[in-house]
Amino acid sequence: MNTRPTRLSSKKPKKPKKWNAAKSKRKLDKLFSELIHLMDHNLCQRCGKSYGKLDTSHCIPRECLCLRWNTENAILLCPRCHKFGSASWHKSPLEAVFWFNLVFTERQLRLVQLKRQGEEYVFDEPEALRIESFLKSQIKNYATIETPGTVPCKKKDYKEGQNG
Ligand SMILES: [Zn+2]
Repeated sequence: MNTRPTRLSSKKPKKPKKWNAAKSKRKLDKLFSELIHLMDHNLCQRCGKSYGKLDTSHCIPRECLCLRWNTENAILLCPRCHKFGSASWHKSPLEAVFWFNLVFTERQLRLVQLKRQGEEYVFDEPEALRIESFLKSQIKNYATIETPGTVPCKKKDYKEGQNG
């Protein structure tokens, strides 16, 4: 009795690719940033500037994976409002939080709640696929709603500190 399997090809069968969490995070970060740019109309949400490179800034740090790709948890900021200005998120968190609470009071409360709810959060391959498909569908939605050039620049409605 011949039990040997017949080999049709001498090529080795391809191994299914192993899921790579770090790579997956980078991919999602990129999509997420694209979406936040669309949602915030390519404008710094604090000062209204639209030129230069704008940063997707997380309110609750990215290390908190349950909120890393949640659109409530990110706003678009210019480098001055994000990292380098004297009243920026990074240089003066107290002022930044004060501003955020004033403008986004309910959002801030929701974020704190979501963070608490997400303590058991597991980031695995099915979850990564779920987020990817969500982000892609959102990007598609925004891309069809927003036509470049139709969103007027926000005017500065507050006075900036002297020499920032
Ligand atoms: Zn700004």
